Amino acid sequence: MSETESDIDTTSKGDALPSTESEWQEILTDEQYEILRERGTEPRFGGPNIEPDDDGQYRCAGCNAPLFDNETKFDSGTGWPSFFDANEEVVETQVDTRHGMERIEVLCSRCGGHLGHVFEDGPEPTGQRYCINAVALDHDTDQEWVISLRVWDEYPDIKIYRYELCWAEGVAKPPGDDI
Ligand SMILES: [Zn+2]
Repeated sequence: MSETESDIDTTSKGDALPSTESEWQEILTDEQYEILRERGTEPRFGGPNIEPDDDGQYRCAGCNAPLFDNETKFDSGTGWPSFFDANEEVVETQVDTRHGMERIEVLCSRCGGHLGHVFEDGPEPTGQRYCINAVALDHDTDQEWVISLRVWDEYPDIKIYRYELCWAEGVAKPPGDDI
């Protein structure tokens, strides 16, 4: 059977989702881990530039699930990527009472990653404002290759890193290319 692009499910990483927090730490950058797994918040205007995928989707940096459509993105002036609607199949919400506030937290239902919060002061037609950390959104999918920094070895006082050249998530590998 020949593998064509349409056979490749770019919405999932198959069975490759980490099952432990230390596995998550390995595949995510420190910033991604802090936001997605420790429910952090990036500084205003502090996130990376994000671009939608070729199909107009913003994807989860943790599991590549398509979370938000480019058509629903708007400029809220808040310093965080903002959307007035979400892909209900993979985006879920829950009440978040941390920091003495009652907010509605936005999560990726596929990997459980924290994305941001949703507020009721968004534009028409939904009136909702999904306020999302740019770090939680995949921003490498336009590149065929990514260079990632991985921990290679670890000692009590020192960590040795190495750079690895990897295929970006969601990019089809050419058949027979053994890298
Ligand atoms: Zn996810």
